[in-house]
Amino acid sequence: MFSLVDAWQEDINARKVFKFRLELAEDTEAGNTVAERELELDHNRLILPQVKLAVWKRDKGKCVICGSSDNLHFDHIIPYSRGGSSLVAENIQLLCARHNIEKRDKIE
Ligand SMILES: [Zn+2]
Repeated sequence: MFSLVDAWQEDINARKVFKFRLELAEDTEAGNTVAERELELDHNRLILPQVKLAVWKRDKGKCVICGSSDNLHFDHIIPYSRGGSSLVAENIQLLCARHNIEKRDKIE
């Protein structure tokens, strides 16, 4: 179990990097273990090829709503504009053009 003790954002080479420090929640004889992690916030909404491939395989090359395999688009489940990530397959799904447009109409 880790607990988050600190978090901050740094600009490194014009890229936003989110840093956070974790501590072991339990006290041990050796003292707290502190780990520092970096998470680069990629301000690029492009979906990486390996993510696309993983999504394509998971969704079997079909729209997740109707099963159509025509005119498919990679869709952000949590919109990029709302902080959704392009970097993880969990936030990307396959939608046909029709459902992609329908979803966009509902959100925006
Ligand atoms: Zn569809």
